[in-house]
Order: sequence, then C-alpha cells, then structure tokens
Amino acid sequence: MIKVINPATEEVIKSFEESSDQSIEDSVVHAYKAQKKWRLVPFSQRSTIVEAFRSQLKEQLNDCASLLSLETGKPIRNASGELKATLMRVKWFLDHAERCMQTQVVRKEKDFEEHISYEPLGVVSHISAWNYPYFIGTNIIIPALLTGNAVLYKPSEYSLLTGLKIKELFDKVGLDDHLLQMIIGGASVGSKLVEQKVDGLFFTGSYQTGKKIAGQVSQNLTKFGMELGGKDPVYVDEDCDLPSAAASISSGAFYNTGQSCCSIERIYVHEKVYDQFLEQFKSSVEAYKLGDPKSEATDLGPLTREAQSRILDDHVEDALAKGAKYLVQGGRLDGKGYFYAPSVLIDVDHHMKMMKEESFGPIVGIQKVKDEEEAISLMLDTDYGLTSSVYTRSQATAEKVLRQMNSGSVYWNCSDRVSPYLPWSGRKHSGIGSTLSEIGMKTFLNPKAWHKFRP
Ligand code: NAD
Repeated sequence: MIKVINPATEEVIKSFEESSDQSIEDSVVHAYKAQKKWRLVPFSQRSTIVEAFRSQLKEQLNDCASLLSLETGKPIRNASGELKATLMRVKWFLDHAERCMQTQVVRKEKDFEEHISYEPLGVVSHISAWNYPYFIGTNIIIPALLTGNAVLYKPSEYSLLTGLKIKELFDKVGLDDHLLQMIIGGASVGSKLVEQKVDGLFFTGSYQTGKKIAGQVSQNLTKFGMELGGKDPVYVDEDCDLPSAAASISSGAFYNTGQSCCSIERIYVHEKVYDQFLEQFKSSVEAYKLGDPKSEATDLGPLTREAQSRILDDHVEDALAKGAKYLVQGGRLDGKGYFYAPSVLIDVDHHMKMMKEESFGPIVGIQKVKDEEEAISLMLDTDYGLTSSVYTRSQATAEKVLRQMNSGSVYWNCSDRVSPYLPWSGRKHSGIGSTLSEIGMKTFLNPKAWHKFRP
C-alpha cells in the first residue's frame, strides 16, 4: 500500500494499492498490442492527441499546480512555474518531433542510395523521480508517444497524484488506454518493471538506484537512459557582477528547497571578492520565506521526503566537526511538516561530505579560492557531471573554465536552467544518454540504415 502524505502537515492524503506482478506483466502484453497499431498512425493524428493533452494541461493548470504542491510541498508559485514551463516544452516537442523523425538521404548516386530512416523503439518503461514530475514525466512520455512508442509509466510514490493526473488528462483526450499505462508502487514494483522485456527503459532518480537498475536491465540488453544526481559547482570570479551573482546563485542553490538535480551544491569564490560575496549571499538567503506551500508569498516549502533531513543533518554535522562554520544556520524545524530552514556553511573543504556527496536539500558550502585554476581543479573533483556555472564579466574566463568542465551542461552567468532546445544529459554518476532537443528525441527512435541498389 502506498500512502500519499502531505509533507507540510504529515497528513495522509490518499492510499493506493501497488501494482501486482501479474498486472505489470499484463500491461506489457497490452502495450505491445497497442503499439503495433500506434506506430502506423500518421504523425498528424498522434500530434493532435498530444496537442489536446497540452490544452487540457493549460485549462487545468491551477488544479494541477495545487495537487503537485499538496503532495510534494512545492511552493504554489514554483508549482505553477513548472506547469507553465512544461507547456512550453510540450510545444517544442510538437513543433520539432516530425523533423527529428524524417528520413535522411546521406548518399545518392545514379543507381545507388544510402539513407537512414527512424522507427519507434516499441514499448518503453519510465521510472520517474518526484522533484519535477511534470518536467521529468513529459520529457519521456511526450516524445515517446509522438514517435510511435507505448509507455509503461511508474511515477515516484512521492508524486503519485501528479502521475495519475497526467494519465487522467491523456484518457480525457482519447489516447488508447494501453499506450500509457500506470505502474503504481515503490522500489520493489520498480524493480519488477525493470525485469520486463521491453525496448527501452528511461530512469530518473538517484545514482544509487540508477546503478542497481543498470545492472538489472543489462541482463536483457535493453536500451536505457539515466538522468541521475548531481553535485553542481559554481565559480564566482573576481570581476563578476556581485549582487546579481549572489542573487542568482542563492536561487540556484535553494529553488525548490534545494531539491533539484542541478541545484548548486558547491560555491567557489575568488578570494578578492569573498567577503563581499558572503555578505550579499547571506542577505539573499535570509530574505527567503519558508512556510506554507499554498501561500503565494512562500519561497521555500518543506522537504518532500522526511528521510532527506537525516542526510542533510549528517552532511552539516560532518562539516562542522571538520572545521566548517555557519554563515546561515538553519536545520529541521520543530512541529508538523518536514520543514528545513536553509543552512550555508563556510570554511568547507573536500574532506567534508557536503562538498562531495549529493545533499539534495537546502544546504550549501562556500569555499574561498585564490584563482580560477584552483576553482577548476576543485570543480572537477567530483564523481558527478551534471552542470557547472561561472559568474564573470569576462567571456574569455567563462569559456576557459567551462570548456574544461566534464558536465552535460555549462552556464555563464546563470544556473539551474534547462532548455528544450538543448540536450539534457549527465556524465559520470549523473547519467547516461540524453533527453530534450533533437538528440533527446532520437533517443526514442531506432535508426535503420538503408543500402539500395537499383536494378
Ligand atoms: P530514487 O532513486 O529514490 O527513486 C527514483 C524512482 O526509482 C522512484 O520512482 C522509485 O520508486 C524508483 N525505485 C527506487 N528503487 C528502485 C529499484 N531498486 N528498482 C526500480 N525502481 C526503483 O530518487 P528520487 O528520490 O525519486 O529522486 C531524487 C534523485 O533524482 C536525486 O538524486 C536527483 O538529483 C535525481 N534527479 C535527476 C534528474 C536529472 O535530470 N538528472 C532530475 C530529477 C531528479
């Protein structure tokens, strides 16, 4: 039984039976039957259904945002923001999917031609995380459906109502029930889904779970994509616009209560501007309003999962024991709800967990560096590789630093940003493969190489 809990009040909102092993196996059979027909449906009809889904999402935006906020504790302004950005992403998929699927003639001679056609993978599974369930879910479900695949969707048990809402909207616009099927449950249900023989498995979640799934899924040699965690660094150069850097970096660290895969978790500041940066960063963080996610005035809600507060405490205690100090002291609040006030630590170094392991919450460490060379070497000292940022007025410095970063995305004077025009990918422990952009669309397609000699 899955209990959906409101993290702001700890009340149980609703309970759900988990999908049985038999129902998961049946879903696979149904999905294959439905996909055989769907792949032959003209693109214009497939896109009409997705367009109708988008209209429903737009019409029900406020309800969807309230539900998302209720079950994850995401402040309502951020929940609406996620929905609005999802509408833009879905529009991008609609506008670009057909082009990404077009046959490419790569060689043509009098009696000879070589071309590449693109075919749907078939049936794909998606195991999702809870922190941005609309972004993550639609990043997989929409391109997969548009390109002719069927999807078995296991939303996170912590954002189940949102997962069911996505399904409800597709049902409403007449998508065949078996083209998008819900698998409900936690880790053991997810593991059962991974066992199924399907044509693609797309996972978003932690490195620890991703590693287990990759081992399991490789038994069937199933194509897989993994979007995993991060420990994303930023370098604050001596010649940056300090007030705007401090505001942008504090938002990058604490937006969604620090529960973003690409949250800034490590800040390296040039020694010449270190003291000024601390002052401005501190006032920016102290201005955040922590509280009721339903209020439009709230910047930070509760943590979605109570267990995360123990990881955050462990990282902070470890850092303090090894010599770090508070710039801003936060921590778990007393009373109902998983509220955790932001903490900023200084005098940190790479012997501390908080500078090496993913914290995934409202804590961040700031380390002083003597120049960009020291910053580069510290930024690269990580198992992760999701995003890296630099704040500087100098394009040459920005490019010098960012070219050396081993991460899927790099940012100059910004952070915590995802665009459907660009591939979203992680390196090392941050993932395998890519979603979004033309590269991400092609993830859901198999290329077929044609060698044609005319008689
Ligand atoms: P998680 O790994 O705990 O769970 C993710 C999903 O996997 C859930 O649906 C869960 O039920 C399922 N699961 C758990 N154990 C499983 C198993 N053994 N077999 C199959 N399924 C299993 O992660 P989470 O707490 O939901 O999400 C937070 C993590 O996701 C963070 O590390 C965050 O950085 C990462 N994340 C990455 C991206 C990205 O784009 N790179 C986006 C969002 C979140």
